[in-house]
Amino acid sequence: MTVQDVQSFVAGQWLEPDSGARDIADAATGKIIARAGRDRLDTTAMIDHSVTVGSPALKAMTFHDRARMLKALALYLQDHKQVLYGLSFSTGATQKDHLIDVDGGIGTMLVIASKGRREMPDSHVYLDGGTEMLSRKGSFLGQHVCTPLHGVAVHINAFNFPVWGMLEKLAPTLLAGMPAIVKPATATCYVTEACVRLMLQSGILPDGTIQLVTGGTGDLLDRLGSQDVVSFTGSADTAFKLRSAPTLLRESVRFVAEQDSLNASILGNDAVPGTPEFDIFIKEVHREMTTKTGQKCTAIRRIIVPDSQVDAVISAVSSKLADTTIGDPRDPKTRMGALVSQSQRRDVLEKANALGQEAERVFGDPDAFEVQGADAENGAFLPPMLYHCADPDHATTVHDTEAFGPVATVMGYRDIDHAISLVNKGAGSLVASVITHDPDVAREVVMGAGAYHGRLYFNNRDSMDEATGHGSPLPHMVHGGPGRAGGGEELGGVRGVLHYMQRTAVQGSPDILTKVTGQWVPGSKTVKGPEHPFRRTFHDLQIGESLTTSERQVSIEDIETFAHFTGDTFYAHMDEDAALRNPFFPGRVAHGYLLLSFAAGLFVDPDEGPVLANTGLNTLRFQQPVSAGDSIHVHLTVKKKTPRTDTYGEVRWHVLIRNQKGETVAEYELLTMNAYEAAA
Ligand code: NDP
Repeated sequence: MTVQDVQSFVAGQWLEPDSGARDIADAATGKIIARAGRDRLDTTAMIDHSVTVGSPALKAMTFHDRARMLKALALYLQDHKQVLYGLSFSTGATQKDHLIDVDGGIGTMLVIASKGRREMPDSHVYLDGGTEMLSRKGSFLGQHVCTPLHGVAVHINAFNFPVWGMLEKLAPTLLAGMPAIVKPATATCYVTEACVRLMLQSGILPDGTIQLVTGGTGDLLDRLGSQDVVSFTGSADTAFKLRSAPTLLRESVRFVAEQDSLNASILGNDAVPGTPEFDIFIKEVHREMTTKTGQKCTAIRRIIVPDSQVDAVISAVSSKLADTTIGDPRDPKTRMGALVSQSQRRDVLEKANALGQEAERVFGDPDAFEVQGADAENGAFLPPMLYHCADPDHATTVHDTEAFGPVATVMGYRDIDHAISLVNKGAGSLVASVITHDPDVAREVVMGAGAYHGRLYFNNRDSMDEATGHGSPLPHMVHGGPGRAGGGEELGGVRGVLHYMQRTAVQGSPDILTKVTGQWVPGSKTVKGPEHPFRRTFHDLQIGESLTTSERQVSIEDIETFAHFTGDTFYAHMDEDAALRNPFFPGRVAHGYLLLSFAAGLFVDPDEGPVLANTGLNTLRFQQPVSAGDSIHVHLTVKKKTPRTDTYGEVRWHVLIRNQKGETVAEYELLTMNAYEAAA
């Protein structure tokens, strides 16, 4: 059998392992299948390549360009994923496990790409929040903006998800506009290497945007500076060692960490045997213990159940575990494959023995279990092992030792406050789940335990058909946790992108802010276009292009007609005496919606043209009542343009309705879809 030389991709070149290479064994057979690593690594050239080649290429692209690039990349991987499945069996993972790693990684990249198109502008500066009024007259404003860091993101990944682990970090990094150096865990780096090869082969990525280090990182981390980011997933010990490196501390290098986590699941006290919640709980616990052979950063390690249900839970979980076929990961009948390596197997056994000091093993014997169709001697197999801790209040190991395999401990609680105190004894986790049909319990857990957990997952009969599972980090939601879980945060939609950008508070005049942000800010200059803005295509319209309409007087007949036509005969519009008693009104006033309708009547150009549809309005505020006899006019200004499809884009207009005294009556943002080209 040939041994694969897993290469590194350094400054645009694939490099073979050298004398510093380490051997990598197949998890299920123990046979050496690959070697990876180099003593000699030109880290100066790597950083230089990222900063001088990759970074400028990415920064020249807009967020939408980068989002389209990510989508194309994800679709390319989708078409070529069989290669990754084929290799992943050697990591001990089953086909079902590959769906989490490979398909999960591709899906994450697609979601981040879609968030980039929908929630970020088609430009180079991301705005964080709205404009802040810093002066009385509005000549000095503030806006938080985010721009990409100028350095490189070093991604150090754990062995358990060689594809997802890379893509969940890579997608936000590239979307931010930062190049990456990926360092996968050596044990499974051959899968990551294949994925990087596919991405490079696709021709979609600009040069210098991604490099790969298989094996050790040499002095890479010592060469990082303030514009770089280290994003780490792995053990708490390694995280501590790396994040306390003097260079990283001195240069304030951002360090994002995901590490060991004693995640827990609570069975609500309403969820007794016979309820759908009890069944969901058993199913989730079993799935979390056995998927990826328990090597999941979010897996359930502590099973917290009412004292009265301890026996029922142990019995139900044990019977499902007993039905779990352990064996050759390639065999479709196998439910649980091997651990990644013999050293991981030894580590899990050692940790399980430590748990055994405080808890009794009630299921699974590492010295007596069946392995189907595989080499039980040389493969890194273990059975699922369930423990019961009778005194969780005085135990410590069960709350602070993560056996990173198919191992979990059941513990009983008296009441929900006790359950909360136990779940928090993990001192910070990625996720805690609660299976309950009682919303009051959910609220108590959020208030009592939210601060200790990066994610709280509730499931019950109402959500079970669509719930995504305790252990699935979703690209839309944050993944990370406080304390023992590392104190970091990833994903969470655009939040995850911002880890690779600098937030800067920009202060200045409205014109300065309009230029910096690419969005028109109230108070800055407007320009009059050559014709009515509704006659202008998406591309013709300029930011700040504006229209001031003629006036329209509002009569008492207008108010009454509108009231009867719509059925809105609210007293403030119809009953002078009642309106006078209301502190907001000087007597009968026009409906706000009447003013909006009149405003549209004033600013639209009626003929067929590039404006395709009115798709909504935002941030509407009525600021002054309008009485019969008052006149209104409208200022319509192009605020922001965002391409949406191949043929049209969204225009956001700033709309100001003013009365005859020049006072603002209403202010809002109007959304229209405008064609790129004029109709033939
Ligand atoms: P490690 O902490 O040993 O390794 C994580 C990553 O760090 C690997 O890529 C590793 O590379 C790298 N690394 C280790 N030392 C250095 C160094 N000095 N400089 C640069 N990079 C370094 O974790 P493992 O992946 O081996 O997993 C071990 C334990 O981590 C598990 O048993 C589990 O407890 C925990 N873990 C937690 C996860 C979570 O998110 N909560 C996820 C996965 C693991 P190399 O492989 O080449 O040593």
